[in-house]
Amino acid sequence: MTDLIVVGAGLTGLFAAWQAARRGAQCMLVTAGRGGLELSSGCLGIASSGPPLRQVAKAPLPHPYALVGLDALRRAVDDLLELLEASNLPYAGGLESNLELPTAAGGTACAAYAPRSLARFLDAGAGPVTLAGFTGFRDFDSVLASNRLSARLQRPVAAADLPLPGSLPLRDLYSTDLARRFEDPDWRAQACAAWRPILIGVRHLGLPAVLGFRQHASVIAAIEELLELTVFEIPTLPPCLPGLRLESVLREACLAGGVDLIEGATAIGRVDGRNAVTRAAGIVAQTAGGPQVIDAGAVLLATGDLLHGGLVARQSGRLQESVFDLPVVHSSNRSTWTAPHFSDPQPYATFGLRVDARMRPLGADGAPLMQNLFAAGGILAGARRTEEGSRQGIGLATAWRAVESALP
Ligand SMILES: Cc1cc2nc3c(=O)[nH]c(=O)nc-3n(C[C@H](O)[C@H](O)[C@H](O)COP(=O)(O)OP(=O)(O)OC[C@H]3O[C@@H](n4cnc5c(N)ncnc54)[C@H](O)[C@@H]3O)c2cc1C
Repeated sequence: MTDLIVVGAGLTGLFAAWQAARRGAQCMLVTAGRGGLELSSGCLGIASSGPPLRQVAKAPLPHPYALVGLDALRRAVDDLLELLEASNLPYAGGLESNLELPTAAGGTACAAYAPRSLARFLDAGAGPVTLAGFTGFRDFDSVLASNRLSARLQRPVAAADLPLPGSLPLRDLYSTDLARRFEDPDWRAQACAAWRPILIGVRHLGLPAVLGFRQHASVIAAIEELLELTVFEIPTLPPCLPGLRLESVLREACLAGGVDLIEGATAIGRVDGRNAVTRAAGIVAQTAGGPQVIDAGAVLLATGDLLHGGLVARQSGRLQESVFDLPVVHSSNRSTWTAPHFSDPQPYATFGLRVDARMRPLGADGAPLMQNLFAAGGILAGARRTEEGSRQGIGLATAWRAVESALP
């Protein structure tokens, strides 16, 4: 019997499984698909609407931050930063203030922590920067980005277009195609030789975030040396390399820690109701080879919200939690689930599970439904993640607390 089954492989599930393995537990990670990290900029949003520490400290119950407390957040973030540093994917930032960094559309986004390759934009201070795109790469328009960023920050931002050496595929280039090419030293040297005359006088160069995947740190260092300037990355549309790099580090840390990984399997919860106290017995993993019954000492749901399968809206209007069919906090009037405009705060994004301070889902009476069932991350109710910019902070802090509760 495994000690802990974690369901879901987004930031929350991967971080939780790695934490469980670090504590010496036998952990199994079961997931239907990939989580949201490939869509993400790789930044860690804790509370982007103000100084993170202050915002977290004043979050009212039943906000997940109020349930887990500042200590869980700090310990989770410290653990992750240490792993990232050791994995050659260093991050910058802190809990006192947010970093304001450029987006591909020429706006800015705030996060407490960002990959150092993104945060190096701040090294330019108030001085001039140049944003460059690549000929044939449609996911980054340097003229649009530089014009809008210049207007937003009230400082000079130039644009450049850089040619890519060699033949291009007869389709649109993805960021992952380019990341692979940048890892080839000969191709990289050829590219930099072609760019040098275009970049005369440039000291701070912003490029779309395609500068390598596994060898990212050495790719950036090599480009800086060849071009004699500092380089920062700007996250692109998905697939987004900074999110993929973060996913890859966590995934590899899980595997190195001995986590058993089952991918492509939907989990159905199993309940043991034979005794007075109802317990989670484990799951049935619906694998390609047929159903697999897995017993566990505890189960942790990191299945995300409505967009990733943690919650499923039935045609009847019922909102169902996908693994154990747990009660979900939501409005029973379906016409109120969405706001009239796409960019407005969406009521459905606040739906989810109500949990106690140990991250155990609660029933209508306010008592934990099962002593050994836990939930963390996007599936929790009580937060407005998008408006708060708190998605990753909630995922990490609640995963940390849930693992601590499940494996005392
Ligand atoms: C279209 C879209 C765009 C997004 N854009 C952004 C963005 O720009 N910035 C940002 O910060 N965040 C974004 N997110 C959200 C973010 O990626 C995560 O969804 C969020 O951070 C919650 O993380 P999580 O780890 O809790 O869950 P998720 O990342 O949602 O992962 C849930 C995991 O659970 C698995 N799962 C669900 N149900 C089951 C089941 N029954 N059995 C087995 N496995 C199951 C899924 O396959 C997935 O691996 C976006 C999400 C979506 C869907």
